[in-house]
Order: sequence, then structure tokens, then C-alpha cells
Amino acid sequence: MPTIEVVPGVHQLMFAGVNIALIAEEELTLVDTGVPGSLPGILSLIRRLGRSVEEISTVIITHNHFDHIGGLPELRRLTDVKVFAHEAALVGPQAEVPYPQGIRRLLRVPFLSPIRRRFVLESGDIDVQLAGGEMLRPLGGLQVIHTPGHTPCSICLYSPERKMLFVGDAMQRRRRKLQFPAKIVSTDLAQAVESVRKLAELDFEVLVLGHGRPVTRGARAWVQALGHTEG
Ligand SMILES: [Zn+2]
Repeated sequence: MPTIEVVPGVHQLMFAGVNIALIAEEELTLVDTGVPGSLPGILSLIRRLGRSVEEISTVIITHNHFDHIGGLPELRRLTDVKVFAHEAALVGPQAEVPYPQGIRRLLRVPFLSPIRRRFVLESGDIDVQLAGGEMLRPLGGLQVIHTPGHTPCSICLYSPERKMLFVGDAMQRRRRKLQFPAKIVSTDLAQAVESVRKLAELDFEVLVLGHGRPVTRGARAWVQALGHTEG
């Protein structure tokens, strides 16, 4: 599975079109866990760095879509991790899977089916519920920014010290520019536009996305350009 070292100590693993970020410091932190079946790729990256899976202390989930949480159960079976996600990511046992209606109809995940586990986060899956505004330990302080729109629980992670922003699916890359998340897979596009405009006010150089290659220089200008377009 292809990996990129985005900046020293921050790696991006790409599997099935989805990105998983690994922050390698004294402790290891994952941002998102990819689709089910991502674990071997995560393990081989960790081994290549001369580290071990037990060193993963923290998993931060950018939002509760299956291609970002699917690798979590297999990772949990292997090692003890603390999972951080926005409080809105929690879906009760009686709730529909967290997708816009059109997608939900396509997925048709039955309530009592074991595959439902891959599509929702239920209580017990999240160890630390976030509201936005928290400062987490990685990268000299990683600020949690609530950026609803793509999903109600979407968060971005901002390191002022490293001038780096992890956006999950709050926006997407199309070649040399950024776009808003696709409407069909987003809960509230107007909110997604507002969230992008909020991010454009931050000072950062590097952007790590949920899909596609990172932007390693001048990323703020890319986000500002997107913020100036109509949603
Ligand atoms: Zn998504």
C-alpha cells in the first residue's frame, strides 16, 4: 500500500482510495482508520518505522463514514487505543446509519445485521467525546475544530506549531484545486461551505485530506480560493 511522508513524522497511508494519517512521535496517533481490511497496511507502515502497534495510543476520527471508521474494530482487537471523535458521531441502536437518505437507501443496512458495526459508531466505540475547541497532544498541540456539513460530526485538526491542517472530507482535492464535499454524500452543503470559510482564516501551509494527495505548500491559499467560490 502506498505511503507518503507528508512532513517529517507525519505519514499518509492510502488504501482503497482512502487516507489514514499516522503521526509518529513518542506515541503513535492515527487520524482515521480507513475501510475494513486496512490493518495490514497500517501494521506494515508501523513496522517499517521500527515501531510497534502497541505504541498507538490515540485514534482520532474525523467523521463517522464507513471508509474512515471501518478499520477500527480490527485495530481494537489487536491493541488498546483511545478513540477520540465528535459527540455527534454517536449513533444510537435505534438510529438509521448516518448518511444522507439517497445513500442510506443504497446501503440498506439492517438494524440487527453484524455489518451495521462497520457503518456506525455506538457508545463504547468512542472513548473521548469531543465538542470542538479541545487541544489534543500530538504535533505540539492539535486543536479540534468542529466543521459540520459533510456530516454533523465532522472535525478538522489544526496544529498551529506545524502549520498543518487535517480536514477529513470537509473538502476534496481535484488536481490543482479544492472542491466542496460532494453533495450526494454530505448532510448539509451550506454548512460545509461555512466550515471551509472558517478554516480559511487559520494560518497553515500543509493540508491532509481524507482522500487524495496532500497539499504540502501554500495550502491556505487553496482553501481561501475555495472559500471564495459559491457553494
Ligand atoms: Zn465522508
